Amino acid sequence: MWAARFHQVGRPLAIEEITTPSPGPGEVLIQVMACGVCGSDIHIAFEGVTPTAFTPITLGHEPAGVVAEAGAGVKDFAPGDRVAVCPLLTCGNCLNCKSGNQQVCLQRRCIGIQAEGALAQFMLAPAANLVPLPDEVSFEEGAVITDAVATPFHAIFATGGLKPGESVAVFGCGGLGIHGVQLARLGGAAQVIAVDVRDHVLERALAVGADEVINASATDPVTAVKDLSKGLGVDLAVELVGAAATIAQSVEVLRPGGRTVVAGLGPEPIQTLPPTLFVRSEFKLLGSYGFTVSETARLVELTASGRLDLSGSVSRVLPLKGVNEGLEQLHEKIGDPIRIVIQPNS
Ligand SMILES: [Zn+2]
Ligand SMILES: [Zn+2]
Repeated sequence: MWAARFHQVGRPLAIEEITTPSPGPGEVLIQVMACGVCGSDIHIAFEGVTPTAFTPITLGHEPAGVVAEAGAGVKDFAPGDRVAVCPLLTCGNCLNCKSGNQQVCLQRRCIGIQAEGALAQFMLAPAANLVPLPDEVSFEEGAVITDAVATPFHAIFATGGLKPGESVAVFGCGGLGIHGVQLARLGGAAQVIAVDVRDHVLERALAVGADEVINASATDPVTAVKDLSKGLGVDLAVELVGAAATIAQSVEVLRPGGRTVVAGLGPEPIQTLPPTLFVRSEFKLLGSYGFTVSETARLVELTASGRLDLSGSVSRVLPLKGVNEGLEQLHEKIGDPIRIVIQPNS
């Protein structure tokens, strides 16, 4: 089979022919029909800030496809089944797994970072990580769900605990944040304020349901968010950039008792208000990583029913040999793609 392999930081992925793996007990071989490329792939391949567990390694952690072969003991999936794949490999036995928090499994690995990934014609995954994909949900939408939608979903609902009627500010409206805006609205937020530094990205946020948009390169976002929320600030801020400045702003826009969820990844230390302000206002600053298989399944349901419209989320589709072009476009933010999806079997 053909696969896009990462050898070294700063070098293009190599499109190589490697042996198609065989599923072990409890595993499934999947013919990958769609796999999103992600900022995390840029961190690995261009910036070197996310080391992989080994090299060379097949990248790709946002897959959807068709079951090609089921390993011994797999009962729930059979060849021909359409599936989305939750990319986090978890042990099922640690205290976090047993308490339903698989996303912080003590043995956590991610497909395409610590295990062979999905930018290949075939991939292996535990059957426990598969979510059936009904015909109403395209493979491309399934691929977008398995990170770009599921990460903000987990951040807003599981970590952020959004309740109907609350106000929400979303910092960063790229591939994750645009879905954050959609999901906050779907979850019953009374007001959704989108913050970014790119006007056309903010226009896109308005089109998918933001009530107000703020260009933080033109106006102070803290003052602007407070002005838009009766001078009080918002109940929930979601930071999807991973930069020190936006994290600080996302705390300062809270009303007393509010919470900030940071799901953006980056190397800068977090700096925020002095405790005299932070403590007296009972602000909550929470990290949020990944998502669970059941959250992936809920998003497939929301998409299949038409409640969640992901039809605009696939900015471009490329064959496997176009993967480096896709990574370059994402890295340079050419056209600010929401998601570029690779079809390894086209
Ligand atoms: Zn990703
Ligand atoms: Zn575990």
